[in-house]
Amino acid sequence: MSAVGLSGVHLLLTYKCLYECDHCFVWSSPSSKGTMTLARLEDIIRQAHEIPSVERVYFEGGEPFLFYPLMLRGIELTRRLSLEAGVVTNAYFATDDRAADLWLRPLAELGISDLSLSTDSYHGTGEENKMVRRAKRAAQRLGIPVGLIEIESVEQLSCSAPKDESKGQLCFRGRAAAELAGKVKKRPWRAFDTCPEEPPKIGRVHIDPYGNVLFCQGISVGNAWEKPLKRIMSDLNPEKHPIIGPLIEGGPAELAKRFHVTPKRAYADACHMCYEIRCALRTRGAAKEILVPDQLYGVMSEDSRART
Ligand code: SF4
Repeated sequence: MSAVGLSGVHLLLTYKCLYECDHCFVWSSPSSKGTMTLARLEDIIRQAHEIPSVERVYFEGGEPFLFYPLMLRGIELTRRLSLEAGVVTNAYFATDDRAADLWLRPLAELGISDLSLSTDSYHGTGEENKMVRRAKRAAQRLGIPVGLIEIESVEQLSCSAPKDESKGQLCFRGRAAAELAGKVKKRPWRAFDTCPEEPPKIGRVHIDPYGNVLFCQGISVGNAWEKPLKRIMSDLNPEKHPIIGPLIEGGPAELAKRFHVTPKRAYADACHMCYEIRCALRTRGAAKEILVPDQLYGVMSEDSRART
């Protein structure tokens, strides 16, 4: 596949977060390790700019506002290179209206095109929710395009009421697989014959503080600190990738079959099955350069890229 289809580069600026949400795909927490250095950050933004189809760079985590000067420098470079910039945050900084203005004004001046605020029952319904509302109002005052990311709760998932279309779908991968999958009704494993990410159309990748270029959380297609992003993407043939290939062919069910992993009888969703099969493969030491970093499998180490 060529890099032509890649339009979004999402930087996991840090794995660290003040919160430790049950639905977090990337197992972020206050004790998580791994933050991009300034040199790496500038390098990867320039690498993204070298791919003509890339239109936007997102700053995510973890919580990117924890490394505010780094994030601002990254946004500034992104804008200087005429790419769009977006930020995803839980708005922990919006302790009052003036503080929300103070933190967001520099982003408005740099001209970010999207501020996505995470708010739902997993992030907290008290002060956490109020901070998001404050940040939203501040963004509107400052003219920043702003939206909310609200994920449905397990209670909403389990009730028979019609789905609330304003809420995003809960996917059971990462910490969500460990903490929440046991709370919902399961379906037989054979039902999970497609991947919701719709490979081989790889329109975006996430890049973490260790350089891992991730098709999905925990599935690497290369390391941008070792090989230029442009080459990683142009060399990538999703059908031939040891993990993405089976997912294209027949979803997590095919992944289990291809690697001779005996599935459980039932799973919460396709991502739950995919995640558990990948955890089983890691235990066997299979695809160890691909199923990284440890952080995305809930293994907290000094250097999450090291698997040993
Ligand atoms: S099925 Fe696997 S690869 Fe596809 S979105 Fe879910 S976790 Fe990611």
